[in-house]
Amino acid sequence: MDIRLEHLTKSFTNKDKVETIAVNDLNLTIKSGHLVGLLGPSGCGKSTTLYLLCGLHEPTSGKIWFGSDDVTAVPPEKRGIGLVFQNYSLYPHMTVYENIAFPLKNSKSFKKEHPESKERKEKIDAIVHETARIVDIDKLLDRKPGQLSGGQQQRVAIARAIAKQPKVLLLDEPLSNLDARLRIQTREEIRRIQQETGITTVFVTHDQEEAMSITDEIVVMNQGIIQQVGAPQDIYTEPDNAFVAKFLGNPPINMFDAKVSDGYVVINGEKAFKADVPYTDVQVGIRPESFIVSDGDDSFDIDIKYKATIGRDFLVRFDLNGVFSKALIESDNRVNEGDRIKVRAKRSGIHLFDKEGNRISQW
Ligand code: ADP
Ligand code: MG
Repeated sequence: MDIRLEHLTKSFTNKDKVETIAVNDLNLTIKSGHLVGLLGPSGCGKSTTLYLLCGLHEPTSGKIWFGSDDVTAVPPEKRGIGLVFQNYSLYPHMTVYENIAFPLKNSKSFKKEHPESKERKEKIDAIVHETARIVDIDKLLDRKPGQLSGGQQQRVAIARAIAKQPKVLLLDEPLSNLDARLRIQTREEIRRIQQETGITTVFVTHDQEEAMSITDEIVVMNQGIIQQVGAPQDIYTEPDNAFVAKFLGNPPINMFDAKVSDGYVVINGEKAFKADVPYTDVQVGIRPESFIVSDGDDSFDIDIKYKATIGRDFLVRFDLNGVFSKALIESDNRVNEGDRIKVRAKRSGIHLFDKEGNRISQW
């Protein structure tokens, strides 16, 4: 079952009658069985989109389709959605077992499907054990949430959300309360669980690396508007606009205001590389990892201000056109602070945008 958001808009009006358009004319198809990342800075409308999907918010306009069903007016409990939030919101006085069983015990539709109380209890028991196995907490069923680590608590929250066999799983910044190592481990677990269950999943995050690492598709948002939708690698290598280019990548892409003259892009008064485009002013984005130390036609000078060793590479900082920039350079190049070196950038790491930030794809 694909999910379709059609011209979905949600605005809030505060008591001083000031309107915020949290989600602005969103059009999006979430493919059945996919893990989709909603990515963007804080306040861009990610959570609002999730609340619209699960029915906790009513849209100002637009429609939501689950397959061929228009669910726009369907109440949350009838949409078949599992929700997981940043704060695990487990019931502290209940055991892990009881936490996972709770939504099933209280589900009217589950009661209808399993009217006989003994049979229902056995069914719940089987589901709790099966979901606990899937999320790898089967040895913790007798514990209370207070006796678990953050990562374990979040697994319980995920188990509770998938026990009802939802059609859609929505995760709102589920890793934000975990420390760095657990964040990486738990995000990989989420991917594994999603693949094992096949549940269509929407994963909200402001962390581009998180979204890049586990999703099938990323939806980049800014100020309530979708900026780009695509596979992580495609968005990284072909950003539609300067916002997307800047939001993905660590260290972030270097952005320069530049001129075009005589078929060359000119940065800092120096011809940097060939580009025959019908613009005079452009923005140039260069990925830090695309620099190569090289003295040739397409090379330009940089003055190294600072150097740090990052694994196999040096991270060097330099000032180009008044923009403090970064390059990752293979550490077999003997470069030092204070050196002036010649570099060029691989074409695949260079992105051209017009003054408004729209991608210039032909050059
Ligand atoms: P995100 O989850 O991407 O950080 P949100 O969806 O929570 O962003 O918020 C998007 C915008 O809508 C923000 O400007 C936020 O202040 C506003 N907003 C969200 N919820 C409400 C609300 N209930 N009332 C008023 N404004 C809201
Ligand atoms: Mg949010």
